[in-house]
Amino acid sequence: MAHGVRVHAVGGPEVLVWEEIPVGAPGPGEVRIRQRAAGLNFIDVYHRTGLYPLASLPAVIGMEGAGDVVELGLGVTSLAVGERVAYAGVLGGYAEERVIAADRLVKLPEAIAYETAAAMMLQGMTVRYLLRETYNVVPGTVVLFHAAAGGVGLIACQWARARDATLIGTVSTDEKAELARANGAAHVIVTSRENFVQRVAEITEGQGCDVVYDSVGKDTFRGSLECLKPRGLWVSFGNASGPVPPFDLSLLKGSLFATRPSLMAYTATHAELAENAADLFGMVESGAIRIAVNQTFPLKEAAAAHAALEGRRTTGSTVFTI
Ligand code: NDP
Repeated sequence: MAHGVRVHAVGGPEVLVWEEIPVGAPGPGEVRIRQRAAGLNFIDVYHRTGLYPLASLPAVIGMEGAGDVVELGLGVTSLAVGERVAYAGVLGGYAEERVIAADRLVKLPEAIAYETAAAMMLQGMTVRYLLRETYNVVPGTVVLFHAAAGGVGLIACQWARARDATLIGTVSTDEKAELARANGAAHVIVTSRENFVQRVAEITEGQGCDVVYDSVGKDTFRGSLECLKPRGLWVSFGNASGPVPPFDLSLLKGSLFATRPSLMAYTATHAELAENAADLFGMVESGAIRIAVNQTFPLKEAAAAHAALEGRRTTGSTVFTI
C-alpha cells in the first residue's frame, strides 16, 4: 500500500482525498515506480470536474511524475531497478508509488532534477509538439499564444524565442505580462484592460498571425480566429475558460485551418515519445529553456493547488513534492 490522492465523485477541489491506495505488482511489460515528484496540470482539473470523464471511480488522478524504478514486471529489459525515470500522459500520477507500462517512461538525465522533470514533462512535450509539429515555428513566424505566463505558456515563450519567432502573448495581469516578457514574449497583451483582437491588429500592422495557440477555449476562440492571416492555423488545445461550443465553419473565413491536438496523439508510440523528450531535455540542458517551478505543494494538499490553478493565481509550473 501507498498513499495517493483519489477522486470518488467529480466536483470541486474538495473531492480530492488523500488516502491509502492499492498499488499492486507490475504485470508483464510494466514497472512499479517510487515517485519523487508529480506535476499539476490543467487536465487534472478537467478530470476532477468531469469535463473529461474518468473511465471508473474512485480514481487516482494526475498525468505526470518522476521517480525511481523499484520493481520490474515480466519481460521488461529496457529499464533496471534504481533507474531515474519520468512520464507524462498516463493517469495515476498523484501517488507515492504507481505501476506504469515501461514503454511510457523515459530515462531521466542526471542533470535534470525530479521536480524539474515533474514540472516539464507534460507542459514541455506539449510545447515541443505544438511549435515543431502541429505548426513548424521558424524564424519570423508570428505566433499568438494565450495564457503566456502559465505552465505551458512560459515554456512556449522561451521555445519561440529560441526559434527566433515573434510571440505575442496574452495574460490577465501586469505581473504576468512582465514574466512572459522576461521569458521571451516579444509583445504581451493584458486582457483585463486590452482587447486582444485590436492589439494583435496593431502589433502586426493589420497582417495577423501565422498561428494562434488557444488553450483558453470558450472565451477566446472567436477572437483567436479574427487574429489569423488568411490560411493561418488555429490550434485549439485546451479549455481553461470552458469548451469551445459547436460553431459554423463559415467562421473559418474561406481559408483558415483548425486543429484540436493532444499530447497523447503526438506521443502515441515509444519512438515519438522518446524523440519529443530528447528534444525537450536538450533544450533544458543547453539552458535555452529554464523550467519555472513557481509553486510547490505537498501532494496531500492537492485541493489547494487545484484552487490556485483554477483561480488563475499560479504562474509557470506547479509541482507536488512526495
Ligand atoms: P496554466 O498554468 O496555463 O493555467 C491556466 C491559465 O489559463 C491561467 O493561469 C489563466 O492565465 C488562463 N485562463 C484564462 N481564462 C481562464 C479561466 N476562465 N479560468 C482559469 N484560467 C484561465 O495551465 P497549464 O499550463 O497546465 O495548461 C494550459 C492549457 O493548455 C490548459 O488549457 C490545458 O488544458 C492545455 N493543455 C493542453 C494539452 C494538449 O495536448 N492539448 C497539453 C497540456 C496542456 P491568465 O490569468 O493569464 O489569463
